[in-house]
Amino acid sequence: MKITDACFIKSVYHLQDLPNPVLPEFAFSGRSNVGKSSLINTLLNRKGFAKTSATPGRTQSINFMEINRAFCFVDLPGYGYANVPLSVRKKWLPLIEGYLKNRPTLRLVIILADVRREPQEEETLYAAWLKQHDIPLVVVLTKVDKVSKQQQIKSLRLWKNRLGIGGEPILFSAATGEGKERIWKHLIHFIKSHKTHKELD
Ligand code: GDP
Repeated sequence: MKITDACFIKSVYHLQDLPNPVLPEFAFSGRSNVGKSSLINTLLNRKGFAKTSATPGRTQSINFMEINRAFCFVDLPGYGYANVPLSVRKKWLPLIEGYLKNRPTLRLVIILADVRREPQEEETLYAAWLKQHDIPLVVVLTKVDKVSKQQQIKSLRLWKNRLGIGGEPILFSAATGEGKERIWKHLIHFIKSHKTHKELD
């Protein structure tokens, strides 16, 4: 994918501030430090576009980026709640769920997970919730350069089975660029062909 234009649109903290749903959107989810910014920067061939590691304030907002004036990347707040105080979670959940449930332009959710981690309940519940709401998802296993090929395959099977997803997870490394083209292929497929149920209604 040739990136001719990438611009940050806005950070949203309240549902009423969401931009109008116009262009197709891809939402990226994952715990902090999973490599989300690195993935977005790699896809866009931009070094510091998505900020690497917790930019204060941005971690609790939904961040919209417009690409090639044709589609948007949407950076969702992390759903790994283990270390997050309840008061913060109470603000996040309605924001994330409200966005995901009612977004006619949402094409696909990309769930990022570190290849070295096993799926936890938070991921299995999240995947089940997305399926329940007819929201397509794909799992991207990050930082694959850090483990052997054998470990990558083991992890791939584990994530596929535990999350009960149809498609294979995609193995990705921001360090080597492995998986970048597969991810683009996937996104392009969803830009071109996929219509959500909400759009078909
Ligand atoms: P975010 O918090 O999910 O946005 O994660 P970042 O993209 O900021 O990455 C967190 C840390 O992991 C940084 O130190 C990155 O350099 C590192 N990292 C991210 N992706 C990769 C990768 O594919 N391979 C390796 N070896 N390190 C990575």
